[in-house]
Amino acid sequence: MTSTDVIIVGAGPTGLFCAHQLGVIGLKCEIVDNLDKIGGQCIELYPDKPIYDIPAISECTGEELTNNLVKQIKPFKFNFHLGERVDEIKNENKKWILKTSKGKEFISPNIVIAGGVGSFEPRKFSSESCEKFEGKSILYSIKDKSIFKSKSVTIFGGGDSALDWAIELSKNSKVTLIHRRDEFRGATSSVDKIKELQKQNKIEVLTQFQLSEVKGNENLESAEIKHDDGKVKSIKTNYILGFFGLIMKLGPIADWGLNLDKKHIPVNTENFETNQKGIFAIGDICTYPGKVKLILSGFHEGALAARGCFKYARPDEKLRFEYSTTSKTIHKRLGVKK
Ligand SMILES: Cc1cc2nc3c(=O)[nH]c(=O)nc-3n(C[C@H](O)[C@H](O)[C@H](O)COP(=O)(O)OP(=O)(O)OC[C@H]3O[C@@H](n4cnc5c(N)ncnc54)[C@H](O)[C@@H]3O)c2cc1C
Repeated sequence: MTSTDVIIVGAGPTGLFCAHQLGVIGLKCEIVDNLDKIGGQCIELYPDKPIYDIPAISECTGEELTNNLVKQIKPFKFNFHLGERVDEIKNENKKWILKTSKGKEFISPNIVIAGGVGSFEPRKFSSESCEKFEGKSILYSIKDKSIFKSKSVTIFGGGDSALDWAIELSKNSKVTLIHRRDEFRGATSSVDKIKELQKQNKIEVLTQFQLSEVKGNENLESAEIKHDDGKVKSIKTNYILGFFGLIMKLGPIADWGLNLDKKHIPVNTENFETNQKGIFAIGDICTYPGKVKLILSGFHEGALAARGCFKYARPDEKLRFEYSTTSKTIHKRLGVKK
């Protein structure tokens, strides 16, 4: 079990800047995120779009903002635990114990929830027959493309992810691309490439079809697909990939004994603590009179929550206010050489 001063749930911009503020005041933290990358909405929803209202930065993309926030906390060497959802929390002897979806456990006097609109999760196939194959031969993201080599892969979806993977996997696998509409939503260049591969018989494309059920005992054997006109077709396949985008779910946070107000966590504005001692909420997930859902508000909330964590992490010490320009202690923590 990993013991630390603070556990941050969510590696979006708010969680990242809160980590910086914890480092500045001399606290350690571990950062957990359900996504397999750092940056929250900025990286998942708009990495290339320019943001114009980050203080003192006239323009930067979601990806640039994320990279800068990561660079700013580098001196503290905090650990990230990505691709892991914080599922359970419980209190034992005034400390919080957290358990992730991968079974990792943390113990800390403080939790900072910077969970945005909840965890991003893939939109899944609706057929119950898929459940027993999910995570094995029915996948919603790809970690290791080598598993598909020389196999039959059936890809569902009409956006960039479906098209990009269909193109990539067609090099070494038998690929069938299935979309419920006639038109694909992905980039024109990808749509053209798919048409070219289809002409060369390197890819099979079926449109106006949707998955109705899958068949197989131990292993997945086939996908039953239904055309808009009611016609049913069976496709032999080793793998099924679904790329239908992400949905945001408040998820397990709803079961942690916190007061909730329309899927948001009410906090006080002195230190952003919730109704539970040692649990703070910042960024899009918190609510209070006058809350504005902007990144700049999350930065302020993270700075105050970090100071709120100090009293539980160092109950016998008093936190001294210091400027980063002049404090030798802060310079040392940041590794500033002067
Ligand atoms: C298209 C678009 C454009 C935007 N433009 C602007 C703009 O110009 N200016 C601006 O200020 N704001 C903008 N925003 C809003 C801004 O992105 C959000 O306010 C900001 O991302 C909130 O940051 P956050 O850290 O609170 O949450 P998020 O960025 O949502 O990050 C939360 C993270 O927590 C993780 N998480 C949640 N639950 C769990 C769990 N149980 N376990 C593990 N991880 C969990 C999620 O996976 C996620 O990565 C825009 C938003 C969108 C969608």
